[in-house]
Amino acid sequence: AISLSRITKSFGSTQVLKEISLDVMPGEVLVLIGASGSGKSTVLRIMSGLEHADGGEIWVNDVPLHDSKRSREICGHVGMVFQQFNLFPHKTALGNVTLALIKAQKMPESEANKRGMAALERVGLAERANHYPAQLSGGQQQRVAIARALAVEPKIMFFDEATSALDPELVGEVMEVMRSLARDGMTMVVVTHEMGFARKTADRVVFMDQGIIAEQGSPEQLFVNPQNPRTQQFLSRVL
Ligand code: ATP
Ligand code: MG
Repeated sequence: AISLSRITKSFGSTQVLKEISLDVMPGEVLVLIGASGSGKSTVLRIMSGLEHADGGEIWVNDVPLHDSKRSREICGHVGMVFQQFNLFPHKTALGNVTLALIKAQKMPESEANKRGMAALERVGLAERANHYPAQLSGGQQQRVAIARALAVEPKIMFFDEATSALDPELVGEVMEVMRSLARDGMTMVVVTHEMGFARKTADRVVFMDQGIIAEQGSPEQLFVNPQNPRTQQFLSRVL
């Protein structure tokens, strides 16, 4: 489990997170929604260890990570998927997926390839293993990026608007991979504008507003019966 307690973060004189407290349970699919600038990506980056908080505590399986020396340890156990796929154009799908295993984890190439193929299989792209990014659709490239994240066998996956850069007709295949990971019990924290995904796949939906968690609950609670006027206002704009 990951536990954030009273996390604060400022950029310059702007406080973008105001004492955020949030727990993610093993196997849970947590979806973060909220207006642009509300702090969703910042929460994700702090949770994944990419960014330091100014104040507050982060616990991962009861290990304190707010102690700066340890914050990198978590990185081996998390997978991140961003809006931009950031694949290396001169490497094949498999080459992209195995790169971190071979370079960072010093895994023998044969073992990395086996692991990489399993990850590509998982996203339905085993037969494209030797294709270069330019030979793949945007949806396929993003699935390669998901496979790359899965290859390190993360305990938790973070998705930050993973489908926002895709043409509308390519969103579905990426969402389907995300849904299947959720079904398999992967712990996931997902920032998305896809309210359908939030409704159908989230265990819990968190609505952020100007650096605070304004409301959270089950998809039913949040979408059918939102209590906070800010949530109601946001949903009336996006639904
Ligand atoms: P969006 O939906 O547009 O992605 P968000 O909810 O993910 O928005 P954040 O990216 O977390 O919002 O940003 C929250 C606030 O912090 C914004 O006002 C943003 O401009 C600011 N911010 C984020 N990162 C930085 C940075 N590296 N330097 C300065 N300001 C930043
Ligand atoms: Mg963002």
